[in-house]
Amino acid sequence: MADVIHLDILTPEKTVFSDSIEAVTAPGTLGEFGVLPGHAALVTTLEIGEVVIKKDNREYWVAISGGFAEVGNDKVTILAEAAEPAQEIDIKRAEAAKIQAEEKLKNLSSDKSEFSEQVFALKRATNRIKVSARKP
Ligand code: ATP
Repeated sequence: MADVIHLDILTPEKTVFSDSIEAVTAPGTLGEFGVLPGHAALVTTLEIGEVVIKKDNREYWVAISGGFAEVGNDKVTILAEAAEPAQEIDIKRAEAAKIQAEEKLKNLSSDKSEFSEQVFALKRATNRIKVSARKP
């Protein structure tokens, strides 16, 4: 059994991360899950949340905005709608997006389709603010 896993984090725009790591946790739809070398194969959908990467006994954080994860053969592939390493998050942009979503939600009733769009925009912004504070 290998003592490392190969992790790829891909978005429609680019490869955000591609390297050998020791462990990773990700926000699965059924709950956060962790992967160590030798983990059983699985495929799951992902929520808005943080991916925590352990490499060389250090931790690295990546904000993701939902997607899919495939685990198998000491390889983890995360296909995310958007993904930003903590140190690349523009905190001012996330704070502005949070305020904008909160303002829009004040004037929308929950039966409007834009309501859930703004709930997700708020979740993305709140997640980015949280992950950007994780910088080592
Ligand atoms: P905004 O309203 O600020 O555009 P959003 O949640 O609508 O936020 P997305 O559609 O999820 O943005 O992402 C569009 C692109 O912008 C993606 O490439 C994403 O990684 C990037 N992005 C969004 N917000 C930030 C941020 N605060 N810092 C860095 N990159 C960001």
